[in-house]
Amino acid sequence: MAGANSRDRELRERAAAVIPGGMYGHQSVALLPDDCPQFFERGEGAHIWDADGRRYLDFMCAYGPNLFGYAQPEIDAAYVRQLGLGDTLTGPTALMVELAEALTGMVSHADWAMFCKNGTDATSMALVVSRAHTKRKTVVRAKGAYHGAAAWCTPRPAGVIDSDRAHQLFYDYNDIASLEAAVAQAGDDLACIFAAPFKHDAFIDQAEPDPAYARRARELCDAAGALLVVDEVRAGFRLSRDCSWSRIGVQPDLSTWGKCVANGHAISALLGSDKARAAAASIYVTGSFWYAAAPMAAGLETLRLIRETDYLERITALGDRLRAGLAERASAAGFGFRQTGPSTLPLFLFDDDPDLRKGFCFASEMLARGVYVHPWHNMFLCAAMTEADIDQALDAAEGAFAALKRQVRELAPVEKLAFLSAGAR
Ligand SMILES: *Cc1c(COP(=O)(O)O)cnc(C)c1O
Repeated sequence: MAGANSRDRELRERAAAVIPGGMYGHQSVALLPDDCPQFFERGEGAHIWDADGRRYLDFMCAYGPNLFGYAQPEIDAAYVRQLGLGDTLTGPTALMVELAEALTGMVSHADWAMFCKNGTDATSMALVVSRAHTKRKTVVRAKGAYHGAAAWCTPRPAGVIDSDRAHQLFYDYNDIASLEAAVAQAGDDLACIFAAPFKHDAFIDQAEPDPAYARRARELCDAAGALLVVDEVRAGFRLSRDCSWSRIGVQPDLSTWGKCVANGHAISALLGSDKARAAAASIYVTGSFWYAAAPMAAGLETLRLIRETDYLERITALGDRLRAGLAERASAAGFGFRQTGPSTLPLFLFDDDPDLRKGFCFASEMLARGVYVHPWHNMFLCAAMTEADIDQALDAAEGAFAALKRQVRELAPVEKLAFLSAGAR
């Protein structure tokens, strides 16, 4: 933790001088408990070490990219081998074709793949492909859903102008009537509907997709000749070895992938069906690093492990064990503690905690016990975790709930989250 004389504290002070705001985006100290470490020095398996050398069992998994463990030996060996041969070259290597073959072989709806670096590249490209395919402008997407940090979708308004947000209509996730209303309002200008695999917005309970809503999104796109996009960037391969809506029998036209597809190496992908192939071939998209070979080598090895190991069954069982154990301990301590979403991507919120003061205190008490959990964002299970790790987390939680109980009446409001109580939720 960030004690007064810690290296973390020193780095924060230096960062404040040379990095705007000291940090940006989801790691901004403005949104996390003060004792949350800001800087890390290494990761191995399911653990991370902060800049002061403290070790944590890490339930953030780098916000998703860590699926098989940090510094996973087979994946990193493939990466390093390719670095020795060549990474960013004048053009791609054969690995690009192999990776596209591997992904289209695994994801039922996909007939082709395009590679990029970040999830935002993939979601932005999905929007452009939809507009090229339909020759229409309007995107219908769920209110509060995160699709990246480009001007069309970034959650913060600073620097964004009205025209960046033009031609977008919003619905409430899982609410068929609101989806139909947005589509009706789009009229003959509907280019695409965006959907997350399940509702995984920050600060609120998560929700599984209602199959009737998913089917209705498919029907509305078909009736309008628009494209259905499922944004798998966060949840991909933690619910299924296929697109996760294949579990409810709905196939999108486009799906966007990132985060864990190369277990932390920088690559993301847009996958599509034949229907959208001509449009995808017509747009101009590229990037200096989009053909880099080493992340593709890591991606191929990651996909092999996804196909050939029981990682999904194991992380599901570990997630279920965590959920059951936490529920027991929370209720023994007398807390209403909501664990929502799939057990491989859990989110924790306390009842009667509008400004998250209980959540912040619980996260801090877990940190003090060597477990990194998040007070308002979904977390991630990884295949490097063991039953013993989960049991360690449960022991930590028992102590953290007891500590919270002792402090709960004196907890100060979390001023940095005052915007939540102001109704922004
Ligand atoms: C993280 C995320 C993105 C953006 O991915 P980046 O790699 O951060 O650009 C898009 N969609 C979802 C659902 C995400 O979780």
